[in-house]
Amino acid sequence: MNNSVVGAAAQLITSTAGQRKQPAAEPYFSGASAVGSADYAEALSRQPRHTAVPAAVYLHLPFCPSRCLSCDHNTSVNHDPATIDRYLDALERELSMVTALSGMRRPVAQLHVGGGTPNYLSERQLVRLAALVDTHFALRPDAEVSLEANPARATPGQLELLAGLGFKTIHFELRDLNPVVQRSIGRAHSGAMIRDVFANAREAGLRTIAMDLLYGLPGQSQATIRQTVAEALALQPDRVACYAYSRRAESFQHQRAIDPDSMPSLGDKLALFNAIAEGFESAGYVWVGLDSFVRPGDPLALAQSESRLRRNWIGYTQHETRDLFGFGSSAISELDGLCVQNHVDIARWQASLSDGEFPVRGGVRLDARQQRRRDAMTQLMCNMSLRDYAALQDIPEGPGSLADYERNGLVRVNGDAVSITPEGRFVLHHLWGDSSPRHRWDGVW
Ligand code: SF4
Repeated sequence: MNNSVVGAAAQLITSTAGQRKQPAAEPYFSGASAVGSADYAEALSRQPRHTAVPAAVYLHLPFCPSRCLSCDHNTSVNHDPATIDRYLDALERELSMVTALSGMRRPVAQLHVGGGTPNYLSERQLVRLAALVDTHFALRPDAEVSLEANPARATPGQLELLAGLGFKTIHFELRDLNPVVQRSIGRAHSGAMIRDVFANAREAGLRTIAMDLLYGLPGQSQATIRQTVAEALALQPDRVACYAYSRRAESFQHQRAIDPDSMPSLGDKLALFNAIAEGFESAGYVWVGLDSFVRPGDPLALAQSESRLRRNWIGYTQHETRDLFGFGSSAISELDGLCVQNHVDIARWQASLSDGEFPVRGGVRLDARQQRRRDAMTQLMCNMSLRDYAALQDIPEGPGSLADYERNGLVRVNGDAVSITPEGRFVLHHLWGDSSPRHRWDGVW
Protein backbone atom coordinates (compact mmCIF):
# COMPACT_ATOMS: atom_id res chain seq x y z
CA MET A 1 0.00 0.00 0.00
CA ASN A 2 1.55 3.32 -1.00
CA ASN A 3 1.68 6.40 1.24
CA SER A 4 -1.29 8.16 -0.39
CA VAL A 5 -3.44 5.10 0.26
CA VAL A 6 -2.20 5.07 3.86
CA GLY A 7 -3.25 8.73 4.17
CA ALA A 8 -6.68 8.08 2.64
CA ALA A 9 -7.18 5.07 4.90
CA ALA A 10 -6.30 7.12 7.98
CA GLN A 11 -8.83 9.74 6.90
CA LEU A 12 -11.51 7.10 6.44
CA ILE A 13 -10.86 5.59 9.86
CA THR A 14 -10.93 9.01 11.50
CA SER A 15 -14.19 9.91 9.74
CA THR A 16 -15.93 6.76 11.00
CA ALA A 17 -14.41 6.76 14.48
CA GLY A 18 -17.38 8.50 16.09
CA GLN A 19 -19.83 5.96 14.72
CA ARG A 20 -17.83 2.84 15.42
CA LYS A 21 -18.02 0.94 18.64
CA GLN A 22 -15.11 2.12 20.76
CA PRO A 23 -12.52 -0.37 21.88
CA ALA A 24 -14.01 -1.88 24.99
CA ALA A 25 -12.28 -1.17 28.26
CA GLU A 26 -11.76 -4.50 29.98
CA PRO A 27 -13.76 -6.14 31.46
CA TYR A 28 -15.85 -6.55 28.35
CA PHE A 29 -19.23 -7.13 29.96
CA SER A 30 -19.44 -4.32 32.47
CA GLY A 31 -22.48 -3.09 34.35
CA ALA A 32 -25.81 -4.88 34.29
CA SER A 33 -26.02 -7.87 31.98
CA ALA A 34 -29.12 -9.89 31.20
CA VAL A 35 -26.93 -12.99 31.02
CA GLY A 36 -25.62 -14.61 34.20
CA SER A 37 -24.38 -17.83 35.75
CA ALA A 38 -27.80 -19.55 35.52
CA ASP A 39 -27.77 -19.02 31.73
CA TYR A 40 -24.30 -20.51 31.50
CA ALA A 41 -25.35 -23.49 33.66
CA GLU A 42 -28.31 -24.04 31.39
CA ALA A 43 -26.17 -23.86 28.23
CA LEU A 44 -23.71 -26.33 29.79
CA SER A 45 -26.42 -28.82 30.67
CA ARG A 46 -27.76 -28.63 27.09
CA GLN A 47 -24.41 -29.83 25.72
CA PRO A 48 -24.76 -33.29 24.19
CA ARG A 49 -23.09 -35.89 26.43
CA HIS A 50 -20.54 -38.28 24.91
CA THR A 51 -20.35 -36.19 21.74
CA ALA A 52 -17.47 -36.68 19.34
CA VAL A 53 -17.73 -33.02 18.24
CA PRO A 54 -14.51 -31.38 19.40
CA ALA A 55 -14.44 -28.24 21.52
CA ALA A 56 -11.90 -25.52 22.25
CA VAL A 57 -10.59 -24.91 25.77
CA TYR A 58 -8.94 -21.76 27.11
CA LEU A 59 -7.22 -21.51 30.50
CA HIS A 60 -6.31 -18.09 31.88
CA LEU A 61 -3.38 -17.68 34.28
CA PRO A 62 -3.28 -14.05 35.44
CA PHE A 63 0.17 -13.87 37.05
CA CYS A 64 3.31 -12.01 36.03
CA PRO A 65 6.56 -11.27 37.88
CA SER A 66 6.27 -7.56 36.97
CA ARG A 67 3.97 -5.38 34.91
CA CYS A 68 4.95 -4.04 31.48
CA LEU A 69 3.95 -0.41 31.00
CA SER A 70 2.01 -1.24 27.84
CA CYS A 71 0.17 -4.21 29.35
CA ASP A 72 -3.51 -4.47 28.43
CA HIS A 73 -4.10 -8.00 29.71
CA ASN A 74 -5.97 -9.19 32.76
CA THR A 75 -3.06 -10.05 35.01
CA SER A 76 -1.55 -9.32 38.41
CA VAL A 77 1.95 -9.08 39.83
CA ASN A 78 2.56 -11.85 42.29
CA HIS A 79 5.60 -13.40 43.95
CA ASP A 80 3.89 -15.95 46.17
CA PRO A 81 3.71 -19.53 44.80
CA ALA A 82 0.99 -20.35 47.36
CA THR A 83 -1.31 -17.78 45.69
CA ILE A 84 -0.87 -19.56 42.36
CA ASP A 85 -1.53 -22.92 44.08
CA ARG A 86 -4.80 -21.55 45.45
CA TYR A 87 -5.68 -20.28 41.98
CA LEU A 88 -5.08 -23.78 40.59
CA ASP A 89 -7.34 -25.18 43.34
CA ALA A 90 -10.13 -22.88 42.13
CA LEU A 91 -9.39 -23.77 38.50
CA GLU A 92 -9.80 -27.43 39.39
CA ARG A 93 -13.13 -26.62 41.02
CA GLU A 94 -14.29 -24.74 37.91
CA LEU A 95 -13.24 -27.61 35.62
CA SER A 96 -15.17 -30.05 37.81
CA MET A 97 -18.30 -27.88 37.91
CA VAL A 98 -18.34 -27.27 34.16
CA THR A 99 -17.68 -30.87 33.14
CA ALA A 100 -20.19 -32.20 35.71
CA LEU A 101 -22.88 -30.48 33.60
CA SER A 102 -21.43 -30.64 30.09
CA GLY A 103 -19.88 -34.10 30.28
CA MET A 104 -16.45 -35.42 31.21
CA ARG A 105 -13.64 -35.93 28.71
CA ARG A 106 -15.17 -34.07 25.78
CA PRO A 107 -12.78 -34.26 22.81
CA VAL A 108 -10.71 -31.09 22.38
CA ALA A 109 -9.16 -29.91 19.11
CA GLN A 110 -7.79 -26.60 20.40
CA LEU A 111 -6.30 -25.90 23.84
CA HIS A 112 -4.67 -22.60 24.68
CA VAL A 113 -3.11 -21.48 27.94
CA GLY A 114 -2.85 -17.69 28.13
CA GLY A 115 -2.28 -14.99 30.65
CA GLY A 116 -0.53 -13.23 32.25
CA THR A 117 2.64 -15.26 31.92
CA PRO A 118 1.74 -18.96 32.00
CA ASN A 119 5.38 -19.98 32.07
CA TYR A 120 5.76 -18.04 35.35
CA LEU A 121 4.32 -21.18 36.97
CA SER A 122 6.78 -23.58 38.56
CA GLU A 123 7.42 -26.95 36.95
CA ARG A 124 5.27 -28.61 39.61
CA GLN A 125 2.43 -26.20 38.87
CA LEU A 126 2.70 -26.72 35.10
CA VAL A 127 2.53 -30.50 35.61
CA ARG A 128 -0.56 -30.05 37.78
CA LEU A 129 -2.19 -27.81 35.17
CA ALA A 130 -1.65 -30.39 32.40
CA ALA A 131 -3.04 -33.15 34.63
CA LEU A 132 -6.16 -31.07 35.34
CA VAL A 133 -6.82 -30.73 31.61
CA ASP A 134 -6.23 -34.46 31.04
CA THR A 135 -8.65 -35.40 33.80
CA HIS A 136 -11.52 -33.32 32.44
CA PHE A 137 -10.99 -33.24 28.66
CA ALA A 138 -9.66 -35.60 25.99
CA LEU A 139 -7.10 -33.91 23.74
CA ARG A 140 -7.33 -35.29 20.21
CA PRO A 141 -4.05 -36.46 18.69
CA ASP A 142 -4.29 -33.66 16.10
CA ALA A 143 -5.22 -30.98 18.64
CA GLU A 144 -3.49 -27.61 18.65
CA VAL A 145 -2.03 -27.32 22.15
CA SER A 146 -0.45 -23.94 22.80
CA LEU A 147 0.89 -21.80 25.61
CA GLU A 148 1.91 -18.14 25.83
CA ALA A 149 5.36 -17.58 27.24
CA ASN A 150 7.74 -14.87 28.30
CA PRO A 151 11.08 -15.75 26.64
CA ALA A 152 13.02 -14.41 29.64
CA ARG A 153 11.56 -17.17 31.82
CA ALA A 154 11.79 -20.01 29.27
CA THR A 155 14.72 -22.14 30.41
CA PRO A 156 15.79 -25.18 28.35
CA GLY A 157 14.42 -27.42 31.13
CA GLN A 158 11.06 -25.68 31.16
CA LEU A 159 10.75 -25.91 27.36
CA GLU A 160 11.52 -29.65 27.50
CA LEU A 161 8.92 -30.08 30.21
CA LEU A 162 6.29 -28.21 28.16
CA ALA A 163 6.99 -30.38 25.11
CA GLY A 164 6.81 -33.48 27.33
CA LEU A 165 3.46 -32.34 28.70
CA GLY A 166 2.06 -32.28 25.17
CA PHE A 167 2.35 -28.61 24.23
CA LYS A 168 3.03 -28.30 20.51
CA THR A 169 2.99 -24.54 20.04
CA ILE A 170 4.74 -21.94 22.14
CA HIS A 171 3.75 -18.36 21.60
CA PHE A 172 6.46 -15.97 22.72
CA GLU A 173 5.08 -12.60 23.69
CA LEU A 174 7.70 -10.21 22.28
CA ARG A 175 5.79 -7.08 21.17
CA ASP A 176 8.85 -5.41 19.56
CA LEU A 177 12.53 -6.31 19.27
CA ASN A 178 13.94 -2.78 19.16
CA PRO A 179 15.74 -2.00 22.46
CA VAL A 180 14.52 1.62 22.61
CA VAL A 181 10.88 0.63 22.00
CA GLN A 182 11.24 -2.20 24.53
CA ARG A 183 12.58 0.19 27.14
CA SER A 184 9.68 2.57 26.55
CA ILE A 185 7.22 -0.19 27.48
CA GLY A 186 9.27 -1.49 30.40
CA ARG A 187 10.73 -4.59 28.78
CA ALA A 188 14.27 -5.69 28.00
CA HIS A 189 14.86 -8.82 25.91
CA SER A 190 18.28 -8.97 24.29
CA GLY A 191 18.51 -10.34 20.76
CA ALA A 192 21.01 -12.98 21.93
CA MET A 193 18.63 -14.22 24.63
CA ILE A 194 15.72 -14.47 22.18
CA ARG A 195 17.83 -16.34 19.62
CA ASP A 196 18.87 -18.82 22.34
CA VAL A 197 15.29 -19.33 23.49
CA PHE A 198 14.03 -19.95 19.93
CA ALA A 199 16.83 -22.48 19.40
CA ASN A 200 16.08 -24.17 22.74
CA ALA A 201 12.36 -24.38 21.91
CA ARG A 202 13.14 -26.13 18.62
CA GLU A 203 15.64 -28.40 20.36
CA ALA A 204 12.97 -29.30 22.94
CA GLY A 205 10.68 -30.49 20.15
CA LEU A 206 8.05 -27.75 20.22
CA ARG A 207 6.58 -27.99 16.74
CA THR A 208 5.35 -24.45 16.17
CA ILE A 209 7.13 -21.37 17.43
CA ALA A 210 4.96 -18.30 17.30
CA MET A 211 5.56 -14.70 18.29
CA ASP A 212 3.60 -11.49 18.33
CA LEU A 213 4.40 -8.01 17.11
CA LEU A 214 2.51 -4.91 18.12
CA TYR A 215 2.28 -1.78 16.02
CA GLY A 216 1.46 1.57 17.54
CA LEU A 217 3.88 1.26 20.47
CA PRO A 218 5.62 4.37 21.83
CA GLY A 219 8.73 5.29 19.89
CA GLN A 220 8.03 3.01 16.94
CA SER A 221 8.84 4.35 13.49
CA GLN A 222 8.99 2.78 10.06
CA ALA A 223 12.77 2.48 10.49
CA THR A 224 12.49 0.67 13.86
CA ILE A 225 9.72 -1.63 12.68
CA ARG A 226 11.63 -2.61 9.51
CA GLN A 227 14.60 -3.48 11.70
CA THR A 228 12.35 -5.47 14.04
CA VAL A 229 10.85 -7.37 11.10
CA ALA A 230 14.36 -8.15 9.80
CA GLU A 231 15.36 -9.49 13.24
CA ALA A 232 12.14 -11.46 13.53
CA LEU A 233 12.73 -13.03 10.11
CA ALA A 234 16.20 -14.11 11.24
CA LEU A 235 14.53 -16.04 14.07
CA GLN A 236 12.42 -17.92 11.49
CA PRO A 237 9.23 -18.04 13.53
CA ASP A 238 6.51 -20.34 12.23
CA ARG A 239 3.75 -17.85 12.98
CA VAL A 240 3.62 -14.13 13.70
CA ALA A 241 0.51 -12.49 15.10
CA CYS A 242 0.34 -8.77 14.61
CA TYR A 243 -1.87 -6.51 16.74
CA ALA A 244 -2.67 -2.81 16.85
CA TYR A 245 -1.74 -1.16 20.14
CA SER A 246 -3.63 1.75 21.66
CA ARG A 247 -2.78 3.49 24.92
CA ARG A 248 -5.83 3.13 27.19
CA ALA A 249 -4.68 4.70 30.43
CA GLU A 250 -8.28 5.16 31.63
CA SER A 251 -8.61 1.35 31.84
CA PHE A 252 -4.99 0.44 32.61
CA GLN A 253 -3.55 2.98 35.03
CA HIS A 254 0.05 1.82 34.61
CA GLN A 255 -0.13 2.99 30.97
CA ARG A 256 -0.07 6.57 32.31
CA ALA A 257 3.69 6.08 32.49
CA ILE A 258 3.76 6.07 28.68
CA ASP A 259 4.14 9.56 27.29
CA PRO A 260 1.14 10.17 24.97
CA ASP A 261 3.36 12.33 22.75
CA SER A 262 5.53 9.30 22.01
CA MET A 263 2.58 7.40 20.52
CA PRO A 264 2.44 7.00 16.72
CA SER A 265 -0.42 8.76 14.96
CA LEU A 266 -3.17 6.83 13.20
CA GLY A 267 -1.50 7.39 9.83
CA ASP A 268 1.81 6.22 11.34
CA LYS A 269 0.13 3.08 12.67
CA LEU A 270 -1.23 2.16 9.27
CA ALA A 271 2.19 2.73 7.74
CA LEU A 272 3.76 0.54 10.46
CA PHE A 273 1.34 -2.28 9.71
CA ASN A 274 2.00 -1.81 6.01
CA ALA A 275 5.75 -2.23 6.65
CA ILE A 276 5.17 -5.39 8.72
CA ALA A 277 2.91 -6.95 6.08
CA GLU A 278 5.33 -6.08 3.28
CA GLY A 279 8.30 -7.43 5.25
CA PHE A 280 6.76 -10.81 5.97
CA GLU A 281 5.05 -11.25 2.60
CA SER A 282 8.22 -10.42 0.68
CA ALA A 283 10.06 -13.02 2.76
CA GLY A 284 7.53 -15.66 1.63
CA TYR A 285 5.22 -15.73 4.63
CA VAL A 286 1.51 -16.15 3.94
CA TRP A 287 -0.79 -13.45 5.27
CA VAL A 288 -3.51 -15.32 7.16
CA GLY A 289 -6.79 -13.68 8.09
CA LEU A 290 -6.40 -10.05 8.94
CA ASP A 291 -3.45 -10.08 11.28
CA SER A 292 -1.21 -13.15 11.10
CA PHE A 293 1.69 -14.27 8.95
CA VAL A 294 2.68 -17.93 8.71
CA ARG A 295 5.14 -20.04 6.80
CA PRO A 296 3.88 -21.64 3.59
CA GLY A 297 2.50 -25.09 4.37
CA ASP A 298 1.23 -24.09 7.81
CA PRO A 299 -2.19 -25.68 8.49
CA LEU A 300 -3.65 -22.17 8.86
CA ALA A 301 -2.44 -21.18 5.37
CA LEU A 302 -3.82 -24.39 3.93
CA ALA A 303 -7.17 -23.85 5.65
CA GLN A 304 -7.35 -20.30 4.30
CA SER A 305 -6.53 -21.44 0.77
CA GLU A 306 -9.52 -23.81 1.03
CA SER A 307 -11.80 -21.15 2.59
CA ARG A 308 -12.19 -23.11 5.81
CA LEU A 309 -10.11 -21.00 8.18
CA ARG A 310 -11.96 -20.20 11.40
CA ARG A 311 -11.45 -17.88 14.29
CA ASN A 312 -12.62 -17.89 17.87
CA TRP A 313 -11.64 -16.02 20.99
CA ILE A 314 -8.36 -17.97 21.13
CA GLY A 315 -7.39 -17.07 17.57
CA TYR A 316 -7.30 -18.56 14.08
CA THR A 317 -7.74 -22.29 13.75
CA GLN A 318 -8.12 -24.91 11.06
CA HIS A 319 -10.40 -26.91 13.34
CA GLU A 320 -14.15 -26.57 13.55
CA THR A 321 -14.54 -25.76 17.25
CA ARG A 322 -17.80 -23.90 17.75
CA ASP A 323 -17.94 -24.55 21.49
CA LEU A 324 -15.35 -22.77 23.59
CA PHE A 325 -14.96 -23.49 27.31
CA GLY A 326 -13.03 -20.77 29.15
CA PHE A 327 -11.58 -21.29 32.64
CA GLY A 328 -9.98 -18.86 35.03
CA SER A 329 -10.59 -15.22 35.91
CA SER A 330 -11.77 -13.10 32.94
CA ALA A 331 -11.96 -16.16 30.64
CA ILE A 332 -14.53 -16.14 27.83
CA SER A 333 -16.77 -19.10 26.97
CA GLU A 334 -19.07 -19.50 24.00
CA LEU A 335 -21.76 -22.15 23.69
CA ASP A 336 -24.77 -22.18 21.36
CA GLY A 337 -24.84 -18.44 20.69
CA LEU A 338 -24.26 -17.61 24.37
CA CYS A 339 -21.03 -15.81 25.16
CA VAL A 340 -20.06 -15.22 28.80
CA GLN A 341 -17.07 -13.77 30.57
CA ASN A 342 -15.88 -14.84 34.02
CA HIS A 343 -15.26 -12.34 36.81
CA VAL A 344 -12.08 -10.41 36.16
CA ASP A 345 -11.28 -9.91 39.82
CA ILE A 346 -9.46 -13.06 40.99
CA ALA A 347 -10.93 -12.96 44.53
CA ARG A 348 -14.47 -12.60 43.16
CA TRP A 349 -13.91 -15.46 40.71
CA GLN A 350 -12.60 -17.66 43.53
CA ALA A 351 -15.45 -16.67 45.90
CA SER A 352 -18.13 -17.60 43.33
CA LEU A 353 -16.56 -21.01 42.84
CA SER A 354 -16.32 -21.56 46.61
CA ASP A 355 -20.05 -20.76 46.80
CA GLY A 356 -20.74 -23.36 44.10
CA GLU A 357 -21.72 -20.73 41.50
CA PHE A 358 -20.41 -20.34 37.99
CA PRO A 359 -18.22 -17.22 38.18
CA VAL A 360 -19.95 -15.37 35.32
CA ARG A 361 -19.86 -11.57 35.34
CA GLY A 362 -22.04 -11.12 32.23
CA GLY A 363 -22.43 -11.93 28.60
CA VAL A 364 -24.50 -11.73 25.44
CA ARG A 365 -26.93 -14.09 23.78
CA LEU A 366 -27.29 -14.03 20.01
CA ASP A 367 -30.51 -14.84 18.22
CA ALA A 368 -30.42 -16.87 15.00
CA ARG A 369 -30.12 -13.76 12.80
CA GLN A 370 -27.25 -12.33 14.86
CA GLN A 371 -25.51 -15.71 14.91
CA ARG A 372 -25.73 -15.92 11.12
CA ARG A 373 -24.32 -12.41 10.84
CA ARG A 374 -21.48 -13.25 13.19
CA ASP A 375 -20.67 -16.41 11.24
CA ALA A 376 -20.65 -14.35 8.04
CA MET A 377 -18.32 -11.76 9.59
CA THR A 378 -15.97 -14.45 10.83
CA GLN A 379 -15.92 -16.09 7.40
CA LEU A 380 -15.07 -12.75 5.78
CA MET A 381 -12.34 -11.93 8.32
CA CYS A 382 -10.75 -15.37 7.96
CA ASN A 383 -11.11 -16.18 4.29
CA MET A 384 -11.48 -12.73 2.69
CA SER A 385 -14.66 -13.67 0.86
CA LEU A 386 -18.18 -14.72 1.60
CA ARG A 387 -21.04 -16.16 -0.41
CA ASP A 388 -23.76 -15.39 2.14
CA TYR A 389 -23.96 -11.66 1.42
CA ALA A 390 -27.60 -11.67 2.55
CA ALA A 391 -26.42 -12.35 6.12
CA LEU A 392 -24.82 -8.91 6.22
CA GLN A 393 -27.42 -6.88 4.37
CA ASP A 394 -29.39 -5.93 7.46
CA ILE A 395 -26.49 -3.94 8.88
CA PRO A 396 -27.80 -0.36 8.90
CA GLU A 397 -26.58 1.94 6.13
CA GLY A 398 -24.11 4.58 7.30
CA PRO A 399 -20.43 4.97 8.18
CA GLY A 400 -18.97 1.54 8.79
CA SER A 401 -21.72 -0.27 6.86
CA LEU A 402 -21.00 -2.68 4.06
CA ALA A 403 -22.19 -0.11 1.49
CA ASP A 404 -19.82 2.44 3.04
CA TYR A 405 -16.90 0.01 2.80
CA GLU A 406 -17.85 -0.76 -0.80
CA ARG A 407 -17.91 2.96 -1.67
CA ASN A 408 -14.46 3.34 -0.12
CA GLY A 409 -13.04 0.37 -2.00
CA LEU A 410 -12.50 -1.85 1.06
CA VAL A 411 -14.89 -4.60 -0.07
CA ARG A 412 -16.21 -5.67 -3.46
CA VAL A 413 -19.76 -6.96 -3.89
CA ASN A 414 -20.52 -9.18 -6.84
CA GLY A 415 -24.01 -10.64 -6.88
CA ASP A 416 -24.35 -12.75 -3.74
CA ALA A 417 -20.64 -12.71 -3.00
CA VAL A 418 -18.61 -10.16 -1.07
CA SER A 419 -14.85 -10.06 -0.84
CA ILE A 420 -12.24 -7.90 0.88
CA THR A 421 -10.03 -5.93 -1.51
CA PRO A 422 -6.22 -5.76 -1.04
CA GLU A 423 -6.59 -2.18 0.25
CA GLY A 424 -9.42 -3.30 2.51
CA ARG A 425 -7.23 -5.91 4.12
CA PHE A 426 -4.86 -3.24 5.40
CA VAL A 427 -7.59 -0.94 6.65
CA LEU A 428 -10.09 -3.50 7.97
CA HIS A 429 -7.35 -4.99 10.08
CA HIS A 430 -7.35 -1.73 11.97
CA LEU A 431 -11.14 -1.23 11.96
CA TRP A 432 -11.80 -4.76 13.17
CA GLY A 433 -8.74 -4.95 15.35
CA ASP A 434 -10.85 -4.13 18.39
CA SER A 435 -10.32 -7.18 20.57
CA SER A 436 -13.62 -6.74 22.35
CA PRO A 437 -15.64 -9.95 22.05
CA ARG A 438 -18.78 -7.83 22.22
CA HIS A 439 -17.67 -6.25 18.94
CA ARG A 440 -17.45 -9.68 17.37
CA TRP A 441 -20.36 -11.33 19.12
CA ASP A 442 -22.80 -8.60 18.19
CA GLY A 443 -21.68 -8.95 14.61
CA VAL A 444 -21.48 -5.17 14.24
CA TRP A 445 -18.89 -3.69 11.94
S1 SF4 B 1 4.20 -10.10 30.36
FE1 SF4 B 1 2.30 -9.74 29.15
S2 SF4 B 1 0.63 -10.04 30.62
FE2 SF4 B 1 2.50 -9.79 31.84
S3 SF4 B 1 2.60 -7.61 32.32
FE3 SF4 B 1 3.78 -7.88 30.43
S4 SF4 B 1 2.31 -7.52 28.74
FE4 SF4 B 1 1.12 -7.87 30.65
